[in-house]
Amino acid sequence: MKIRLASTLQTDSIVDGLGIRTVIWTQGCPHNCLGCHNPSTHSFEDGALIDVDEINEELDQLTSQDGITFSGGDPMCQPEACYEIAKHAHQIGMNVWCYTGYTFEELQTLSKTKPMILTFLKEIDVLIDGRFILAEKSYSLKFKGSRNQRIINVKESLAKGQVCLNEIDLELPQNDNRKKVEGVYI
Ligand code: SF4
Repeated sequence: MKIRLASTLQTDSIVDGLGIRTVIWTQGCPHNCLGCHNPSTHSFEDGALIDVDEINEELDQLTSQDGITFSGGDPMCQPEACYEIAKHAHQIGMNVWCYTGYTFEELQTLSKTKPMILTFLKEIDVLIDGRFILAEKSYSLKFKGSRNQRIINVKESLAKGQVCLNEIDLELPQNDNRKKVEGVYI
């Protein structure tokens, strides 16, 4: 199985999730967010097709990495290949974060016709969801670009059937009056 990537693996990142991480830059994104930081990753034809086994072998060779982070591009456009890599990362003791332009709720709906999205989702520990919205951009946000995006505890969210935020995501969007109860904003 092959995955279309925008670049080679980027090791030692400290800005794409907690700890020291290896970033997998997927190629191809349908969202076209105004102000996107990475427009060269939008095309579904650019980048390079790489064998998933090759990626997994590269992960095996890494040292001092806490986890992998899927970014892009939108990794949810290649759920089969990303699932295989995420599964392997867990097998070798790495945790899995993923950025996507889709919201968690949109992914739930999409997975009804594309079940691999749910399969991939189940292999993710932390999901940063939602499109980048320029008007909501803030440099003070940790691990996300705009206030509408959420840092989601995926397993808890799937178990409870509602979005449960990761503890890191303490900052609520402006003018948001929700309260936090037992780790969940209501
Ligand atoms: S989802 Fe991410 S990669 Fe895609 S257009 Fe939006 S900001 Fe850019």
